[in-house]
Amino acid sequence: MDSATPGVDALVIGGGFFGAALARQLAREGLQVVLVERAADLLTRASYTNQARVHLGYHYPRSFLTASRSLRNAPRFRAEFADCVVDDFAHYYAIGRTLSKVNARQFEVFCRRIGAPLAPAPPEIRRAFAAALIEDVFVVPEPAFDAVKLRARLVADLAEARVDVRTGTEAIRVAAGPRGLRTTLASAAGPDAIDSARVFNCTYSRLNGLLTASGLPAIPLKHELAEMLLIEPPPFLAKAAVTVMCGPFFSCMPFPARGLHTLSHVRYTPHRSWIDDPARPWHDPLAVMDALPPSHAPAMVRDAVRYLPALAGCRVVESMWEVKTILPRSEVDDSRPILLKADHGLPGLTCIAGAKVDNIYDLFDSALLQPALAGGRA
Ligand SMILES: Cc1cc2nc3c(=O)[nH]c(=O)nc-3n(C[C@H](O)[C@H](O)[C@H](O)COP(=O)(O)OP(=O)(O)OC[C@H]3O[C@@H](n4cnc5c(N)ncnc54)[C@H](O)[C@@H]3O)c2cc1C
Repeated sequence: MDSATPGVDALVIGGGFFGAALARQLAREGLQVVLVERAADLLTRASYTNQARVHLGYHYPRSFLTASRSLRNAPRFRAEFADCVVDDFAHYYAIGRTLSKVNARQFEVFCRRIGAPLAPAPPEIRRAFAAALIEDVFVVPEPAFDAVKLRARLVADLAEARVDVRTGTEAIRVAAGPRGLRTTLASAAGPDAIDSARVFNCTYSRLNGLLTASGLPAIPLKHELAEMLLIEPPPFLAKAAVTVMCGPFFSCMPFPARGLHTLSHVRYTPHRSWIDDPARPWHDPLAVMDALPPSHAPAMVRDAVRYLPALAGCRVVESMWEVKTILPRSEVDDSRPILLKADHGLPGLTCIAGAKVDNIYDLFDSALLQPALAGGRA
């Protein structure tokens, strides 16, 4: 097939937060960039369906590196996307008495070591938790982000940076081409192809789909079908978030994109998980999303109420489902690094998956991205 689109410097595949922010960055550096997204809009998948936490490190007491990088990256996210950050609520971190992998003293020491501010929660807040199950409660300044505002902001920035954004367009495969790489595309308008010096695979849970369809080696990734509840919180939580650490507990965070809260639970949010196995046909997460299992909502609420009885007053509005993708080792050490593989299988093909939104700065700071910024012109 001849290329219908003249060659460009860079093709970014996947219009989630990572693909959109990267396309914007490359264009700001002077590259001619095309961004393709299979859905009808940007930031509709994991970048929308998540807990909306701007991580400040508190969540990772078992991974010092992830915690300290979060603490360093969060202010950059806050500064750059100030209009998308919501901090008009108090965030309480409660420490479980049993089954927790840290106790209250260890959590305090860890926060002080990484330099993350925390203070004892007021007495009326402590009293709201079940004393038999919660050892201590702290208040921390950890905000949330509004995914709808983030989308609007990136759409405007991409237009200003003159990125050619093509929604409703799926990348089918990547191969060597006359300008470096040729990517086959499919959209309602029919098949197409685009030549570019660089291709960035930012398809998150579908990263290995593109690789296997291109005859390239898959990357070991673990996927988890996740269910989060959207709830109307009881009055006690209207301007608050609660995260119970560090084990099979729950979090309840504002979800600014809907004006509701999410409720997620370490035991009940994951429904099933799988690891991409190069020896087997690739398992498309979209197929998993098409056959959802029965909701865990009753169990999730029931267990959370044991720790925070006021949650009995919440109203479950709906379940939100998404496939969460992590590196297999994150299961063991609780780290959340960025996945960044340059020249993966083909010169000029880079695979990227962030484990949380602030990882974008790990990407921009990485020496591996610099050749693309410096020499990516077609
Ligand atoms: C349940 C859950 C809770 C989370 N909580 C948090 C949190 O509180 N804080 C935090 O910072 N992070 C959180 N995360 C992680 C965060 O959501 C992800 O790190 C981030 O959204 C990944 O962004 P992305 O752009 O890589 O992926 P996505 O937003 O999924 O974007 C990938 C895009 O690629 C598109 N695509 C796929 N295949 C193709 C193709 N072949 N051609 C074209 N387009 C394609 C998809 O349609 C999609 O839009 C959570 C994730 C989940 C699932």
